[in-house]
Amino acid sequence: MSAKENSFLNQDFKSRNQEIILPILKEKQISLFIKREDLIHPFVSGNKFRKLKYNLFEAVSQKKNTLLTFGGAYSNHIVATAVVSKLMGLNSIGIIRGEELASDLKKNLKNNATLKKADQNGMTLEFVSREQYREKTDKDFIKKLKEKFGDFYLVPEGGTNDLAIKGCEEILTKEDAEFNYICAAMGTGGTISGIINSACKHQNVLGFPALKGNFLVDEINRFTKKNNWKLITNYHFGGYAKYKRELIGFINDFIEATQIPLDPIYTGKMMFGVIDLIKQDYFAKGTKILVIHTGGLQGIEGFNAKLKQKNEEIIKSL
Ligand SMILES: *Cc1c(COP(=O)(O)O)cnc(C)c1O
Repeated sequence: MSAKENSFLNQDFKSRNQEIILPILKEKQISLFIKREDLIHPFVSGNKFRKLKYNLFEAVSQKKNTLLTFGGAYSNHIVATAVVSKLMGLNSIGIIRGEELASDLKKNLKNNATLKKADQNGMTLEFVSREQYREKTDKDFIKKLKEKFGDFYLVPEGGTNDLAIKGCEEILTKEDAEFNYICAAMGTGGTISGIINSACKHQNVLGFPALKGNFLVDEINRFTKKNNWKLITNYHFGGYAKYKRELIGFINDFIEATQIPLDPIYTGKMMFGVIDLIKQDYFAKGTKILVIHTGGLQGIEGFNAKLKQKNEEIIKSL
């Protein structure tokens, strides 16, 4: 691996824990800190960096010069893969859900900050129908993709595989042992699995799914043997990328009070849930909580474009 490739991956990313100051925390005598994984990189942010790290080492050691992965039109994982591939001098291919996006590509790239960023970083975008997209783990489909694009290193949708879990085990450090609870947002469950693996015995890990469905328990059990974790399933706001005005209002109040931006898909819902649980006295007085800011802030621009169309309150930035 060249020095350039090494330098990005081998940085020792130890995100700082920032204390959150809010009246409710003082009132309930809870101490709440947030691990600022969002500051790792503006587009290879948070858990997406952690999940890609060992996959990239593996791709390079297998002498692959192209990464291929899957995602939706607003996917944090797609952008992260595109940007990190470019940083490392690799090619990238993104298989994107929704063939309608291909019909007026120029316009769609202009209107979609996520796909635009991926395109600007040299990612080849291939738009497929929803039916086709569902075959993303199918051998024949992968074979067809290899016939079309040549050899590549495959990163699954959302980036979750064994090497991704290994990367996410590096989110917590020894110094985090002082916390009683660790909280994080969940999509595929990969990130929380890594966190569970590296959490101490005395710590409880709470996962906040950003979507509906109970498949996540099985997913976590695939990657961890531990049982000091629990899912808090009632803060998905209707499902993946769904929201209520209450959520947008919360995110805007939060940034105003703390100067910390949250995204509406993952971290906003998780933080809403954590604060709501604190209000309900879910945690005993004196509890020390660490929440993980998994990043995802690149998605705000695309989300705001939709809110604007509906004439609704948009998400503020710093
Ligand atoms: C992808 C993502 C998650 C979910 O991670 P999983 O490993 O799929 O559970 C959480 N937060 C942010 C900001 C993300 O982009």
